[in-house]
This record gives sequence, structure tokens and C-alpha cells, in this order.
Amino acid sequence: MSVRPKLVFVTGGVVSSLGKGITTASIGLLLKQRGYDVAIQKMDPYLNVDPGTMSPFQHGEVYVTDDGAETDLDLGHYERFAGVTLNKTSNYTTGRIYSEVLTRERRGDYLGKTVQVIPHVTDEIKRAVLSCATKQTDIAIVEVGGTAGDIESLPFLEAMRQLSHERGPGSTVFVHLTLVPYLRTSGELKTKPSQRSTGILRGIGIIPDFLVCRTDRHLEREHFDKLSMFCNVPRNAVIEERDVSESIYEVPVELAKQQLDTLILDKFGLPPNQLDLKDWKDMLQRAVSPSGRTVTIAVVGKYMSLRDAYKSIFEALNHGAVANDVDLDIRAVEAEDLQSGDPERILGGVDGILVPGGFGYRGIEGKVDAVRYARQNRIPFLGICLGLQCAVIETARNVAGLEGADSTEFDQNCSHPVIGLMEEQKSISTKGGTMRLGAYRCVLEEGSLARSVYGRKEISERHRHRYEIDNDYRQTLADAGMSCTGRYPDQDLVEVVERPDHPWFLACQFHPEFKSHPLQPHPLFESFLRHASRSDS
Ligand code: GLN
Repeated sequence: MSVRPKLVFVTGGVVSSLGKGITTASIGLLLKQRGYDVAIQKMDPYLNVDPGTMSPFQHGEVYVTDDGAETDLDLGHYERFAGVTLNKTSNYTTGRIYSEVLTRERRGDYLGKTVQVIPHVTDEIKRAVLSCATKQTDIAIVEVGGTAGDIESLPFLEAMRQLSHERGPGSTVFVHLTLVPYLRTSGELKTKPSQRSTGILRGIGIIPDFLVCRTDRHLEREHFDKLSMFCNVPRNAVIEERDVSESIYEVPVELAKQQLDTLILDKFGLPPNQLDLKDWKDMLQRAVSPSGRTVTIAVVGKYMSLRDAYKSIFEALNHGAVANDVDLDIRAVEAEDLQSGDPERILGGVDGILVPGGFGYRGIEGKVDAVRYARQNRIPFLGICLGLQCAVIETARNVAGLEGADSTEFDQNCSHPVIGLMEEQKSISTKGGTMRLGAYRCVLEEGSLARSVYGRKEISERHRHRYEIDNDYRQTLADAGMSCTGRYPDQDLVEVVERPDHPWFLACQFHPEFKSHPLQPHPLFESFLRHASRSDS
């Protein structure tokens, strides 16, 4: 291999939300399953330094890596599809690029020059692109967020053009994802938007090598011919990516059928090797047609109208369902509805209840009600991060009888701050400054549910939270039937609580959903779904 790593740039045209992340992740999976060492990266053209401070309504879930980066949710797709482990170099934003450039400027690194978008910002972007690869990386796949033609993505596209030029023929491939809409009134599929958006790329010196066409129906021969001719790509480089009916995990299989992966390798002059998709296809088969019964899981959150806000949770539940060969039915419950509504009407008949992570007071009382319902009705319960905190508040209030028990996140002056900040956190005010982020180890107690589910004494899981269980209340909680069975030993922080008197009640301060893979479902989700599928509620 001449120039390392080879670079695949994935751009998008016409509209946003075309599923570039899933396409990028699918290309990653296919190249990896053909034996290549793959790195995947996302460039986000917005100005926030990272998505950590953005509302889920704006941005969906914030995905967290082992090394504590708060990143775009597409990185979750990359890890889940391609089985890669990502880090701080895997997601850059315009804000992060500029803050680096401005730091260099203040340090005097530019030696008196006028600092400009070209070359200084584009140089920084090029450095960022190459930073995601290690010495072993054969191919780095870089997704550029936004849509071709956006003002803010221009420096990224220019940097990619430069990289392609500098590294020479056979080193870079451009994949352009586009929309081929169907117009119902005229009964036609339209190729013009794709022509326009490849035209925009050509105007900035990028000629796509592949056109991946998002469509809701099959393209006919005439469409392939037209797209090939007017978008200036070879006929076999026009790839159809139809809406999948059952599972996003179908996408790589469909792309492989049209040989997108081997055609990319061919452009790089790399051998195709054998493609091993057996396990993936087996998993897909179970995901699409499970033989077991339907299992209904209530997810009680506060952004339920926005599925992207709980992306990894839904995926991990899916993985758990696939592992148990059952059909998953997610009942999305707005926590606030529980505050005013009848819990029996809202939660009646579910097989399991999950309270996910979150920030802020809205919906808290409804989440606490959901925990109470699960506890009293002996319904399998999984609490994650804020879900653990709600479970602790529920036991403190309703079993231990600590009236007014709360988290200081919601009530600074509550009578029983069962959840609060650690002393050393109290003086820090920068947003994110007090967050516990990324992977921490956790030791599980012998004989606990957690220990038997993981089958191990020590685990490592990712965190994104600020508040902790106050250790002064541990004994009170234990007396109320809630044991702390997982600890971060270095600071004696509670990581896992359980109710041994309940069929399956477990809550964790970390986010197991970030480490669940379709081929390796997370043990907590696997076990939660197994017990939910057996529950006779
Ligand atoms: N808001 C809580 C905290 O900061 C929980 C965070 C979360 O659920 N990710 O501790």
C-alpha cells in the first residue's frame, strides 16, 4: 500500500437526515469484514466545540467514548456496525477546529502571518482528519456532516479536496449520498436534485467517485443511466440505498450486494479479500423475524417524541431482544404524563420498565412514579444514570420513609439529599467541568445480580453524569431493601444498586447502552430482556 491511510470521504447532498451516519458505518463494517484496519471519523460543521452542551431536542443523544469525549450520535453507529473503538480524535466540530487555530494564534505559532480560513483552518482540518488514524490504519472513513452547499461545511470540503490532491491518485475516494425523491403527482423518481448537488461539489473541485442514492423505491435502468451521465460517475458507481423496512442493520448487506465495498477497494488498488458477513446475516435474520413472543418495554423519558435522544438505549434494547429471539415493542412514555395520569393505564401490561439518563427536573416525579410501579408490581426494571438516581429517590421516599428525599440537582435545600455533588465538585463552574465522563472501572459484589449478569468481578463502563449517591445514606437504603452492589473503588462511589427482594431490579450510574453491539449484546440488556420475556405481567 503506497499512501497510508487511504481516505474515504462521505458527503451528503440535497437534504440532511439522509442516514449518512448509517451509510458511513456500513462502509466501515464491510471494509473491516474484508480484513482491513478501519478508522471512522465525523466532522460536524457547527460551532459548538462539542455536542455536550446541546439540548437533545437540537441534537439527539450525546454519545460518549471510553476516553470521555462527548460526541455525535453517529459515532454510536460506527462503533455498533464496524466494532471499532472510537476516541477524542473521532469527532471534530468547526468550534473545536477554530478553538485550536485561535490557541495557536495566541501562542504566536503563525509567526506574524494573517490567520485565514485557507490555509490555517483547512490545515487544522487536515491535521484533524489524519489524527484519527494510527500506524495500523489501512483506511480512514470521514463523514462530513451537513449538506453540500452549506456555507459552514465549505472549509471541510476544501480541506478534503486538498488532501485528495496532495495524496495523489488512488489515495482518496469520495462517496456522495444523495436523495432521489419520488413525486407522487407525476409518478416519477427525480434525479435533478442529485445532479444539482454533485454540481455543487464539482464547483469546489470535488468529483464524487460514488453516488449513493437514498430512495423509497427501486431505481430503474433509466435512472441509473441518467444519474451516471449527469452526475459524472461510472454506471456501476451509482448505488441504490433504498429505505429498509425492518432493520437498519440491513443497509450494509444491501450495499455489499451492489459491491460498493469492492469498488472502493478497487479504486485504492487494494485486494478485495473475503467478505465475512455470516454472523451479521444470522443476527439480521433474528432481528427481522424473531421466533419468540412480543416483549413490551416501557421507556420513561422526557424526550420521547424524539427517538434520536435515546438512540443507543433503543439499539441496546434491540440487541437484547435479538439475543433472546423475541420481538421488541417499545412503549415510549413521557414521564410528565405519568405525573398527571393513571400509572395503570400508562404502564399496565408492560413486561419491563426502563428509566434512561437525563438532566434537569422536568419529568422527574413521573420517573420516580415509574420506578415505584415497577417495584410494587415486580416488573423487571432497569435504571440508567438518572434512572438510578430516581430509583434511589423512590426507595428513600417510599420505603425508607425519608420525606422530601431528592437530588440536589432538583432541590438544593431538600431535607434528604440522597443524591448530591461530591465536596471537590462544588467549586467548579465551567459547563462540563464537574462531569464524570468516559470509562471508569467498577467492582461488583459477590453474589449480586450484577455479578452474575456480567459473570465477572470487575467491569469498565462509560459515564456521563455529575451527581452521586451520598454514601451517608447507603445503610438507610440497604435497610430499605436496596443494596449497593457495584462500586468505583478509587473514590468509593456507588455504581450499581439492586433490590434482592425483586425478580429483576437493577440500576447503574454508568451507561451500558454505549457498549452494546448487535453481535455482542450488552449483558445487562440481554438479561433484562430475558427476564422481561418471562414475566407474566
Ligand atoms: N443529571 C444526572 C447527573 O448529572 C444524571 C445524568 C445522566 O443521566 N446522564 O448526575
